[in-house]
Amino acid sequence: MLNIVLFGPPGAGKGTQSQKLIARYNLVHLSTGDLLRSQIAQGTELGLRAKKLMDEGLLVPDEVVIGMIESQLANNTSAAGFIFDGFPRTVPQAESLDALTQRYNTGVTCMVALEVNEEELVTRLLERGKTSGRPDDQDETKIRKRVTVYNTETAQVAGYYATQGKFHALNGIGAIEDIFGQICAIIDRHQGAATSVTDSQEATDEVKA
Ligand code: ADP
Repeated sequence: MLNIVLFGPPGAGKGTQSQKLIARYNLVHLSTGDLLRSQIAQGTELGLRAKKLMDEGLLVPDEVVIGMIESQLANNTSAAGFIFDGFPRTVPQAESLDALTQRYNTGVTCMVALEVNEEELVTRLLERGKTSGRPDDQDETKIRKRVTVYNTETAQVAGYYATQGKFHALNGIGAIEDIFGQICAIIDRHQGAATSVTDSQEATDEVKA
């Protein structure tokens, strides 16, 4: 299975790149932000509680998002793999993701982080807010709050994957296609490493032939 964690601050381009990656690698897209917004749209109890925090730019509790991911994994057992977008955002969430994927005899393949400076993020999100209808994209104070939460609470997740040799950072400013190409190159390297026994056997076979 190919399980990619797409990482980066709000507005870094995770959603855009996720759409391209699911098409290329036939993956299921799991965005905790989208899952939470769907709960809000349905008017559920969970959605009502999450909305208050989301509108303030704060994180919703770990157990809420972990529970959502757990049921999404259970509902998609025949998937070729997943893109995790906006999750994990804390170290306990990252630990839970390892435990949950282990249940299916798989794990996180790699994490790719898109790096974008705060001023560019604010510009992008205010622009997105004109059409997204998201209250958290329409107010500069809330946007800066989300960036601060990312820097103080979420950025440590990078270290969690770095110690596992799975962390990669890319410049998230540039042409969408260029960034996509760089992400694919990282994923293909990890996939290549996972299948290198088969590859070297094929190479030997080619030499023989
Ligand atoms: P963005 O990356 O633009 O901030 P998201 O759609 O990923 O947008 O998330 C929107 C909001 O949903 C976050 O600010 C946070 O309140 C909540 N949220 C999403 N994913 C998580 C998560 N993994 N843990 C806690 N809160 C989350």
